[in-house]
Amino acid sequence: MGKPTGFLDYPRELPRHRIPLQRINDWDEFHEHQSDEALRRQGARCMDCGVPFCHTGTLLEGMASGCPINNLIPEWNDLVYRGLWREALERLHKTNNFPEFTGRVCPAPCEGSCVLGISEPPVTIKNIECSIIDKAFAEGWVQPEPPAFRTGKKVAVVGSGPAGLAAAAQLNKAGHWVTVFERADRIGGLLMYGIPNMKLDKKKVVERRIQLMEAEGVRFITNCEVGVHYPAENLLKDFHAVILAGGATKPRDLPVPGRELKGIHFAMEFLHANTKSLLDSGHRDGNFISAKDKDVVVIGGGDTGTDCVGTALRHGCRSLVQLEILPKPPLERAPDNPWPQWPKVYKLDYGQEEAAARFGTDPRTYLINTKRFVGDDTGHVKEVHTVRIEWVKDNGKLQMREIPGSDEVFPAQLVLLAMGFLGPEDQLLQKLGIERDARSNVKAELGKFATNIPGVFAAGDMRRGQSLVVWAIHEGRGAARECDRWLMGETVLP
Ligand SMILES: Cc1cc2nc3c(=O)[nH]c(=O)nc-3n(C[C@H](O)[C@H](O)[C@H](O)COP(=O)(O)OP(=O)(O)OC[C@H]3O[C@@H](n4cnc5c(N)ncnc54)[C@H](O)[C@@H]3O)c2cc1C
Ligand code: SF4
Repeated sequence: MGKPTGFLDYPRELPRHRIPLQRINDWDEFHEHQSDEALRRQGARCMDCGVPFCHTGTLLEGMASGCPINNLIPEWNDLVYRGLWREALERLHKTNNFPEFTGRVCPAPCEGSCVLGISEPPVTIKNIECSIIDKAFAEGWVQPEPPAFRTGKKVAVVGSGPAGLAAAAQLNKAGHWVTVFERADRIGGLLMYGIPNMKLDKKKVVERRIQLMEAEGVRFITNCEVGVHYPAENLLKDFHAVILAGGATKPRDLPVPGRELKGIHFAMEFLHANTKSLLDSGHRDGNFISAKDKDVVVIGGGDTGTDCVGTALRHGCRSLVQLEILPKPPLERAPDNPWPQWPKVYKLDYGQEEAAARFGTDPRTYLINTKRFVGDDTGHVKEVHTVRIEWVKDNGKLQMREIPGSDEVFPAQLVLLAMGFLGPEDQLLQKLGIERDARSNVKAELGKFATNIPGVFAAGDMRRGQSLVVWAIHEGRGAARECDRWLMGETVLP
């Protein structure tokens, strides 16, 4: 530990984000960088405690506690404090193939379990992670590192999200020839077409890593849906092993009266088309669902909803509300949510911060349920009808109860459904004869990642359900390790 009194000497400080009212006029990242000196001070706050919960990566009460990829956080905090950036990069790359992604989009369960966080604001772990890798790219330290030898084995990875990419990077490192199949026209999965550009830049950050992987020998095939454009049954004929990393893309619907009206879309239809049009033509082709001058209702108060809020604001929507069926989280940890559990507390995320700057308030309304959609003469949605609810315990189970007389009507010409995802799509899994678990995800034990078909492994959202980028990286790395063991009889992959 560089500075034993660092946590007493320096308060937690994050770089300022770009000013909300300015940044909603463009699609550039909202992150700013801190000076090296400021980052040294933040690194000095790490106490290098005897049991660094920040890198334990366990599940407590079903939520991540600590870093799921076991980043060596106290080590690189200390190295940053001492100005040893290159060494910090080496430590970071030992556990994380893509720190430039997690450093931008991870919700940082590490910070929720930082020991300093018991009594003081935690160490700014995520921002330090991002700064190490951004500096490394800027200095030219991140260069392609193709493997020294090739095993002659060929592995197919289906899906190019963070799980597929992590698996591909690790298997390539082990010397196998890796081909990644992606049905979209660009590589990256939800890194490319889910998370919007202002949170994670596609050209400067996502594609930079893809180019690096290509230079290291990974082959990417886009516009190719396995099971449609490439026969599923050929996978195990053309390749020695397969990693399935197709995500959990089935959206949860809202089957209330009026759902068939025009102007009601799943969040991913809105987000995907927006980023594609932005990248293809700077939105000049008009191939996206525009929120311009519309009253927008986002249904679902999670991260996907936040991305819809940020995107609708950038289009220039007229008004914006975000409806959430659950109660507003407390400002501080509740007694049944102690450290080092993931803190279930109220957060003003980037989209809500921008909406508050634009319209004066956080757009989220809690404890509200949608009853129906009402349309105009042309079959286009014009209103969302809602009722306020409360959650009451009935026989020990929480039940939703409507509050009489609390009906409301919200004007809406655009409704975005962001209520989560139900699991992986069926077609490919059925064709391959892959067994599923009770939640319809691919059945493959965590840690082993093997499906019921020998030589076929599964990772990421397709195996665990819609989750986080950091878990996808964890699973991709783990599946690669087990795949390598299966191919070679032993493995040196972590
Ligand atoms: C809008 C949104 C925002 C999010 N924001 C965050 C965030 O800020 N931070 C965070 O940690 N997590 C976030 N998440 C969750 C995170 O993105 C996912 O958990 C993660 O991307 C899962 O990675 P994956 O590789 O398993 O799957 P995905 O990223 O879903 O990638 C799967 C890929 O497989 C492809 N595919 C599927 N079937 C086939 C086939 N048959 N042939 C070829 N290709 C196929 C799909 O096209 C897709 O590109 C967000 C999710 C959404 C929807
Ligand atoms: S990947 Fe996420 S949990 Fe791990 S150190 Fe980075 S921000 Fe923290």
